[in-house]
Amino acid sequence: MGNRKALIAGNWKMHTGLVDGCKLAVDVEKQCSQFSDREVLLAPPFTTISEIAHLLKDSSVILASQNVCWQEQGAFTGEISPMMVRDAGAAAAIVGHSERRQIFGESDEMVNKRLRGGLASGLLMILCIGETLEEREGGQTYSVLERQLKKGLADISPEDMGQVVIAYEPVWAIGTGKTASKEQAQEAHLFIRGVVEQLYEKKVAEQTRILYGGSVKPSNVDELMAQPDIDGALVGGAALDAESFGRIINFN
Ligand code: PEP
Repeated sequence: MGNRKALIAGNWKMHTGLVDGCKLAVDVEKQCSQFSDREVLLAPPFTTISEIAHLLKDSSVILASQNVCWQEQGAFTGEISPMMVRDAGAAAAIVGHSERRQIFGESDEMVNKRLRGGLASGLLMILCIGETLEEREGGQTYSVLERQLKKGLADISPEDMGQVVIAYEPVWAIGTGKTASKEQAQEAHLFIRGVVEQLYEKKVAEQTRILYGGSVKPSNVDELMAQPDIDGALVGGAALDAESFGRIINFN
């Protein structure tokens, strides 16, 4: 993993109300010992961020929004701006999650605009990419990843890459219980790092954190995290249970 600090991120999706979300955040925080080699990030629903930020104000847990608009304000009904995300107490945002791409039709171009908007506002940004089952079976995994990276990272400077985390999430492994094998995941991560090197330079590629996402659980986190190019995890289902997520945070 080189000098890259591990990042374990929990994406709560459209789960948790205020009461159970606050309880989950506090329970998770209790399981974050004083690590110096890893960071923990939580992406709760927008409506609960400020209350959770208040509860975790003395903690090192990073809060993130699950999406963010590219404009700071304006006529964008239903969107949340980077300024609003920061105002609520979050320091990061996820963009390009496969559910945004597939259910809400977000294109690579839109994901790139969101990424640039969040970076311009000083947020740590997690860019999600990943192939569908059809694309994998059709032998298109690497061309899809390359396209998502090239378009997703368009006009992002090498300096800004310091604030970008990439999450490789094979769509067929999200919420399905199917995990990419550690070999499949490592191979994809190595490929992604190679594309980042091609787009920037070796130094940028070496410092970019690449998370794996797709049915990460207490039972598979250790072997995934032992891979040289896997720098963390983006966790959905298992992040909704404090004990499971606590075990994932405490990977060996
Ligand atoms: C996700 O939502 O990003 C995800 C990887 O979900 P799950 O862990 O449930 O597969």
